[in-house]
Amino acid sequence: MPESAARVFARLSTDEPIADTETVLGRAVVLGGSIAGMLAARVLSGHAESVVIIERDELPSSAQRRRGTPHDGQLHTLMHGGRMQLERFFPGFGQQARAEGAIVTSAMNIRAYADGVQKVSDGKMGLISSSRPFVESLIRRRTLDLPNVKVLTCRAKGLVFEGDAVTGVRCADENDEWIEDADFVVDATGRASKLSDWLEAGDWQRPAMRRMAIDINYTTGIFAREPGDPALAAAIAYRTPSTAPPRVATAAITAIERDRWLITIANYGRQEPIKGVDEFRALCAADQPPIYREAASGEPAGELLTYRQAESRRRDFHLLKRFPARLIAVGDAVASFNPVYGQGMSSAALHASALSDYLRSGPDLDEPAYRFFAMQRAVVDAAWQISTSADLARPDVNGPYPRGYRFSSWLINQIVDASVVDQRTAVRFNSVTYMRTHPSTLVKPSTLARAFRVNRGKPV
Ligand SMILES: Cc1cc2nc3c(=O)[nH]c(=O)nc-3n(C[C@H](O)[C@H](O)[C@H](O)COP(=O)(O)OP(=O)(O)OC[C@H]3O[C@@H](n4cnc5c(N)ncnc54)[C@H](O)[C@@H]3O)c2cc1C
Repeated sequence: MPESAARVFARLSTDEPIADTETVLGRAVVLGGSIAGMLAARVLSGHAESVVIIERDELPSSAQRRRGTPHDGQLHTLMHGGRMQLERFFPGFGQQARAEGAIVTSAMNIRAYADGVQKVSDGKMGLISSSRPFVESLIRRRTLDLPNVKVLTCRAKGLVFEGDAVTGVRCADENDEWIEDADFVVDATGRASKLSDWLEAGDWQRPAMRRMAIDINYTTGIFAREPGDPALAAAIAYRTPSTAPPRVATAAITAIERDRWLITIANYGRQEPIKGVDEFRALCAADQPPIYREAASGEPAGELLTYRQAESRRRDFHLLKRFPARLIAVGDAVASFNPVYGQGMSSAALHASALSDYLRSGPDLDEPAYRFFAMQRAVVDAAWQISTSADLARPDVNGPYPRGYRFSSWLINQIVDASVVDQRTAVRFNSVTYMRTHPSTLVKPSTLARAFRVNRGKPV
């Protein structure tokens, strides 16, 4: 009998150290040196004699923004599920992040507000609070410290196929074009990945793409804060979707390294851009918890940064019937979601966990990695379900609605409502939205029965 998605998810989100790795590959090549690429390289380092990461950007040695990741100035929360995998791949990751300036919070330093009402804390799940370049740079340094991993600065332009497998990558820089030989290739080039085109050019099937329009606008400001660890280090305030999309649909704040606050305001649809720091501060002061106004009153560190994402999208590799051996894809190249739910980096970490599971299972590498894609699917489906079911509740989103949507969204709303006031429901709900457990855990009869009682004011 096939393993259920919930069981696969549970196995991939283990916190067990990675053991029993065996070198089964000569040279592995990873395309893209961002979060998903570095994590895949970390896993491959235990199974390949050498790992080469092909990245078009010259990678900085410290926490700096870069061209290849234009979204990296926006708020990035590393969810609990992703954080656990990072500890697994890089023991002591949280401690190192703290020593280098991140704020490592307990659940008590985080607040969430639903329509202005402060939600009960889950009491369990903390965060690493930092900028995205900080977390990426720490992952990068830990990966590149591995003796058999190196970076090549150039652009990947296509794949070389021989028989039923990938055997190389076409690369180019300003002066030259050449082929990098590979025994295994991982595409981690992000949401604009060209892998589907490269497959088609090699007479392979291209994966179907699923899309859901979201039309989200992010505006982020960074402001000076008092030195030291603040009592409240991260907060998110969101509004129930309404017919007139509000100027602030979600506002999130996080204390970041070097004594700064990073505040992001997100809204939907065709709205006027936020015009400068004065309007940004006014929006933080109006209708938001007091911490937003206080944080935005500090000295601004640079200009406001904006980012728009038109859609969530996923490429369904798991449905392909004809796929070359020795090739997989990970991270946003497979699925990227509405960023407001903060799932991307944790998804990438769980894809790396699936790669580790696959390679440790002694696969026949001359066969397509269908088993890998089946495991990855459990992660993609879970994140897609959380992100799209919340987006489908917005009046400006017109589907596509999955079968049984009305009933399932009514059930989930019971849990969401109960999680505002009931700690045990909050633990279960957050552990799903923080990508620690599979969404099916929310529809257990005992969880639902408790939520119904809470929402009707009955004793639990
Ligand atoms: C506005 C915004 C906010 C977000 N907030 C969060 C959050 O709070 N929490 C969270 O977990 N996630 C968040 N995400 C998602 C997160 O950024 C990604 O999921 C995560 O970075 C994993 O991405 P990736 O490594 O797959 O791809 P990317 O980060 O996009 O990296 C792709 C890499 O490939 C390189 N590349 C591309 N093409 C080529 C080529 N042909 N040759 C060589 N190199 C190439 C690029 O230069 C880049 O380095 C957010 C995303 C956005 C857009």
